[in-house]
Amino acid sequence: MPAAGSGRRFGASIPKQYARIGGRSVIEWSLAPFLADARCAGVRVAIAPDDAQWAALNLVDPSGRLVAVAGGEDRWQSVQRGIEALPPEALDDAVLVHDAARPCLSRAAIDRLLDALPGSPDGAVLAVPLSDTLKRAADEPSRVEATVDRRGLWRAQTPQAARGAVLAAALARCASAGVAPTDEAQALEHAGLAPRLVEGEATNIKITTAGDLALAAAILAKESGMSMRVGSGYDVHAFGPGDHVMLGGVRIPHDRGVVAHSDGDVLLHALCDALLGAAGKGDIGQWFPDTDPRWRGADSSRFVTHVMEQLAADGWRVANVDLTLLAQAPRVAKHREAIVARVASLLGLPAGAVNLKATTTEGLGAIGRAEGLAAQASVLLHAAG
Ligand code: MG
Repeated sequence: MPAAGSGRRFGASIPKQYARIGGRSVIEWSLAPFLADARCAGVRVAIAPDDAQWAALNLVDPSGRLVAVAGGEDRWQSVQRGIEALPPEALDDAVLVHDAARPCLSRAAIDRLLDALPGSPDGAVLAVPLSDTLKRAADEPSRVEATVDRRGLWRAQTPQAARGAVLAAALARCASAGVAPTDEAQALEHAGLAPRLVEGEATNIKITTAGDLALAAAILAKESGMSMRVGSGYDVHAFGPGDHVMLGGVRIPHDRGVVAHSDGDVLLHALCDALLGAAGKGDIGQWFPDTDPRWRGADSSRFVTHVMEQLAADGWRVANVDLTLLAQAPRVAKHREAIVARVASLLGLPAGAVNLKATTTEGLGAIGRAEGLAAQASVLLHAAG
């Protein structure tokens, strides 16, 4: 897997293979179908020598098949380094080269490619026949000069595969001829071979622009069980002196306040825990310890905003939120709309994606004796790009 490119077209501050979708980097999604495949004997990922983000991923493959190697200047040189790092016996076996920025590869596509290989000594390439009408542009700003006959034209995808020794020889031939192939098939072609085109999938997209990331997220959301995550949260605070309580970021007049290091907003605290729980990021106490003076009297909406920033960076978006307040008092019925609106705006959601319920405990227990109040939250996250 060549992954030494900087992805200049992507336009973000990080290379596209490290953009995140649904809690995982693009390169992790791209590696996943191979690491999940018992037929895969080893994976070599070619990384730029100064790439700190690969190490930061801290990927652990319990099977020990995943090894990072130093990549080259160009894609084909990275592929060459990867092949050089394989054990000699692998050269007699199939070598598949897959883009680090193709996160939506299906098992079925891998199966078709592998099935084609024994009958394809020149190698095989996943590709899709062109379905759009092709236009050639005349000048800038672009005008149509001609319609190009698309018959026989395919878009090459990855993986591209050949017997290791065949691919290594083809790349060495390119190197000595000063040819820089843009994919492995071109290297094979340069060696006089005719790799087979194997039907790929339209969903096997390559992330090139930021817009592709949203498309990949939508594809993975549909195809992958990793695309949705549920979380729950619970919080309780005792009543103390005061004249109001904060609920969902809204100030509710009351004859008591709450005892808390922050503003003691049980709804937002339960919400933060549900969000962190769904994203697999611990709990509110780890992120905003009550021993930290920064959070003394803090407006809890800051906690929500900070948690949401973490989730967005990790490729998650909130689908919906369901909140339950457990309290004898105060009654929130007349504040419900304001609380829902405030929580929705903190999460960047329409009000319809936030629900607030309230219940007493029928006078039972500490909440029933109005010694304090509590809240529960459930959230659903979905992968976003
Ligand atoms: Mg709390």
